[in-house]
Amino acid sequence: MVISGIHTLTLLDFPGHISCIVFLPGCNFRCGYCHNAEFVIPEKIKKIEHDFIPEEKFFNFLETRKGKLEGVVISGGEPTIHPDLPEFIKKIKDLGFLVKLDTNGTNPKMLQKLLEEKLVDYIAMDMKSSPEKYDEFTGVKNDFSLLEKSRDLIVNSKINHEFRTTYVKGWHDQKEVETIAKWCTGAQKYTLQNFRPQKTLDPAWGKYTGFTEPELQEMKEIAEKFVKNVEVLS
Ligand code: SF4
Repeated sequence: MVISGIHTLTLLDFPGHISCIVFLPGCNFRCGYCHNAEFVIPEKIKKIEHDFIPEEKFFNFLETRKGKLEGVVISGGEPTIHPDLPEFIKKIKDLGFLVKLDTNGTNPKMLQKLLEEKLVDYIAMDMKSSPEKYDEFTGVKNDFSLLEKSRDLIVNSKINHEFRTTYVKGWHDQKEVETIAKWCTGAQKYTLQNFRPQKTLDPAWGKYTGFTEPELQEMKEIAEKFVKNVEVLS
């Protein structure tokens, strides 16, 4: 596995566990708001891949964190596009760490394998928009049945999980919140994350903003009709 980056410490990204984050390059989506274009677009990846971290170096780092960190968050890009993900996670778990996976949900076959082999302890899946806007939002043609399969696998699994949406004013509205949260019915947790204008994959998305605090609270109340545990990250 080639690793595009490591955050050596996070207290927030893996609920209840002091962790590090490992980022894997490449993604099958092209979300206009993506802040990590250099790790998503193949031509951009080529320009920085000489700085990528060899797997051996990462595992040497993990060895030094035994007893200090509890978990490893695997993020991207989209980690499930890497066929060697299960083997990579096995090596992490063999060192005694818990694993949280961030995914866009497009690879239920991989999720099923990871769940069956008990390789993940927490899954966070993005739910980008309502089904009607999904292709436009993610910049690719989607097979929504794959996302539904991932949703069902995660909701019916015995492991901790959450679904989450980055809310962009001008793209999402209260109706979107209702549709998305309804789709997440039965989930353990739903996170509404406010969009922060920064460098975006599609520069045209730089014009969008996030929502105000009162708007986010209204959106939270809508989501709570479908999922009890709703968190707002503003
Ligand atoms: S936001 Fe996430 S899913 Fe979308 S292109 Fe970026 S890394 Fe991929």
